[in-house]
Amino acid sequence: MVNSQNADVVVVGAGLSGLTAAHRLAGQGLSVVVLEAGDRVGGRTVNVDVGNGAISDGGGQWIGTLHNRMFSLVEELGLSTYRTYTDGKTIYQQHGKRRTYEGVIPPLSPAAMLDYGQAQFRLQRMANQVPVAAPWTAKKANIWDSMTFGNWVDTNCLLSEVKHLLNLSFTTMYAEDPHRISLLKVLHQIATSGGMEFMTNARDGAQDYRVVEGMQAVSMTMADKLGDCVVLNSPVTEVHQDSDGVLVRSARADVRCRRVIVAMSPADADRISFTPGLPGRRKDLQRVWHNGTETKVFAVYDKPFWREKGFNGMALTDLPIAHFVVDNSPADASVGILLVFVGTVGGGAGLSWSDDVLNDESARHAAFIKDLVALFGPEAANPVQVVEKSWVDEPWINGCVGTRAPGVLTSYTDAATKPVDRVHWAGAEAAPEFESYLEGAVRSAERAVAEACAAAGWQ
Ligand SMILES: Cc1cc2nc3c(=O)[nH]c(=O)nc-3n(C[C@H](O)[C@H](O)[C@H](O)COP(=O)(O)OP(=O)(O)OC[C@H]3O[C@@H](n4cnc5c(N)ncnc54)[C@H](O)[C@@H]3O)c2cc1C
Repeated sequence: MVNSQNADVVVVGAGLSGLTAAHRLAGQGLSVVVLEAGDRVGGRTVNVDVGNGAISDGGGQWIGTLHNRMFSLVEELGLSTYRTYTDGKTIYQQHGKRRTYEGVIPPLSPAAMLDYGQAQFRLQRMANQVPVAAPWTAKKANIWDSMTFGNWVDTNCLLSEVKHLLNLSFTTMYAEDPHRISLLKVLHQIATSGGMEFMTNARDGAQDYRVVEGMQAVSMTMADKLGDCVVLNSPVTEVHQDSDGVLVRSARADVRCRRVIVAMSPADADRISFTPGLPGRRKDLQRVWHNGTETKVFAVYDKPFWREKGFNGMALTDLPIAHFVVDNSPADASVGILLVFVGTVGGGAGLSWSDDVLNDESARHAAFIKDLVALFGPEAANPVQVVEKSWVDEPWINGCVGTRAPGVLTSYTDAATKPVDRVHWAGAEAAPEFESYLEGAVRSAERAVAEACAAAGWQ
C-alpha cells in the first residue's frame, strides 16, 4: 500500500550523496524522507562478504587527503580509516619483462620517462587553463571538447609504452576507454581533483585510504541515524511541481514537500517523469549521459602472502586480465585479497581479453589466477575463493564512474547542477570539484542542501 506523507525535503536516492544530504538536513532540524529504489543503502558503495568474517569494498573505496569532506564525514560518524598497503615492491611487467620498483615512479627507460614527463607537463598546463566552475568557458573548450583523451595521448606521446601506461591509468580511473572520454572532461578533472599525480597515486594520492568498516558503512551509519524516514524498495516514478510545492510519487510512499534533492547520476534520473517537463538541456543531458562500468574481481587468500615476499601487492602490467592489481586486504589483514578491475572494453591500453573469457565466470577466474601466479608466484594458485562484484547488471544504477563524451560539456554546460525550480541535483556527477569521486558525492550533497535551504528561506 502506498502511504502519504509530508516533509520539508524529499531526497531521491540513498547512495552516499542522498544520505549525506538527508543527514545534513536532519541536522538542521528539517523533516526529510529518503526514497530509495533498491533494497539497500549505499548505491555505488557496497560491502562484499569475502568469508572468514571479512568484507571487501565492491564499489567505491579509496579516498585521499584532499578529500576533506569525506574525511570529516567519516570521523563525524565514528568510523575509522586505514592506509592502502604500499610497503615493498610494485611489479611492472611489459612484453613478458618483469621489473619491480619502490615508490610511485615505474622503472621506465630514460626515453619513456621523458615522454611521460612531457605528456604530464602539457596536460597539467592545459588543465590550469580550465575554469573550475565553468570548464566550457575555457578559451580552447571547443577544441578540447571535440577530441577524446585517448586520441590526445595517441597523437602527443611518442612511445607505445607511455601510451599504454596513460591509457591504463585512465581506463582504471574511469572504468571506460579513454577514447570515449572528452579531453576537456579529463583536463577539468585534473584541474579540480588534485592534479595528475594525486589522481593516479596510492601513497599521498587519491587511492591512499579506505574505511576500516567498509565504505558502505558510511551510508549505513547515516541511514541508521535517520531511521524510518529512509524508505527502501520504493523507486520514485514522478516528481510533480505545482505552485504549492512538490509531490513525489514512489512505489511505497507519495510525499508532499517544499524541496526535492535528486541524488544520482543524470542517466539514472532520466527514469523519473518530471512535470512540468525538465528544461531541454537537462533532459538531453540525462539522455546522453554515460557512466563507465566494470567488474571488481577479488582473489581471497588466507593471508596476504605477497607481503612476506617483499611485494605490496600492486602490479601494472600488459597481461590479459590482471593489468592493474592491488592489495585489497582488510585493515587487520585477517585475509589477503588481490583485486583487479575487469572492464568490457580494452581501453586502448592494448588489453586483449576475449569474449569467451569475459562471458564465462570460471574461464574468467582461471585467467585471473593464471595472471596472478605469473606475477606473485605459485602461492597465488590456490585462493580460498574468488569473488566478483559486477556493476553491469545493477537494476537502478547505470555504471560506476561518470565520464563525458566529446561535446557533452560544451553542449550542456551547467545542466548537471542547475536547479529546476524546487528540484536540486546532487550525486557525484553534480560536483564541480572531485566530480565522480566519493568526495564529489558528499560535496554535491552539501551544495544542494545549502542551495535548497537558501531558496526556501530556511537559513
Ligand atoms: C566499482 C567502483 C569503484 C569505484 N571506486 C571509487 C574510489 O575508489 N574512490 C572514489 O572516490 N569513487 C569511486 N567510485 C565512485 C563512487 O563510488 C561514486 O561516485 C559514489 O558512490 C556515487 O554516490 P552517489 O550517491 O552520487 O550515487 P549512487 O551511489 O549511484 O546513488 C544513487 C542511488 O539512487 C538510487 N536510485 C536510482 N534511481 C532511483 C529512483 N528512480 N528512485 C529512487 N532511488 C533511485 C540508486 O539505487 C542508488 O542507491 C567507484 C564506483 C564503483 C562502482
